Amino acid sequence: MTENHENPSPKPLAEPYQTCSICRNFPDRIRVFWKMNELESEPMPPGLGKLRGVGDPFYFPHMATSNRGLVECPECHTCYDWKFEYDYLATGSEDDLEVTRLRPEEAEKRRQAVAQAIKDYHAWFAANIPANLQTLRQSRDYNKVSLAVRFFLTEGMERGCDIECALPELVGILPHIHPESISTVNIRTILRKFAAKSPELKQRILTLLNDHGLGPEHPFHQSLLS
Ligand SMILES: [Zn+2]
Repeated sequence: MTENHENPSPKPLAEPYQTCSICRNFPDRIRVFWKMNELESEPMPPGLGKLRGVGDPFYFPHMATSNRGLVECPECHTCYDWKFEYDYLATGSEDDLEVTRLRPEEAEKRRQAVAQAIKDYHAWFAANIPANLQTLRQSRDYNKVSLAVRFFLTEGMERGCDIECALPELVGILPHIHPESISTVNIRTILRKFAAKSPELKQRILTLLNDHGLGPEHPFHQSLLS
């Protein structure tokens, strides 16, 4: 075969990851696995922990439970499919992490799917706000209250939904639930996060606490000011 010097094929463009300080040395597919917490493969390449979830906090990669999603490199924005599987077997636990570099077209499709999923999620959350506010206002059934509080914290705040509208109801339920219940802990988490956002929000929460008889001497009040 003779080489055609007149029409050389164009050199493929360098992809952004090839010059990236974080992910240029990642293979196209990384697989790391553990059996009973013992590493049974090559270790994770350095920098893998820097990848972040696309749509975080709607999705973020972690190794606490099985999860799959789209992650990206914060420097070059190359996308990777992240798949972590945790299996608890009679013979011991097995953990398997697979991180696969995506082609730009595939990455774009997946980004659009994440954007749509977030939009759908926010719509679902908004539609369920009134019923949960109603529960906090009217129900004194602890299980129902507990689910409503969890709705605002776990399904709302922790996944990037705005729950400021629920502050009066969340404070209003406090005098009706046990001070050491999990719901009280969850509400304290929410209020502390809001109080840390701005002095105005902190003042608003302190006023709400006062209005519900949880004045300056109350430990709850103190924990927000600390
Ligand atoms: Zn990179």
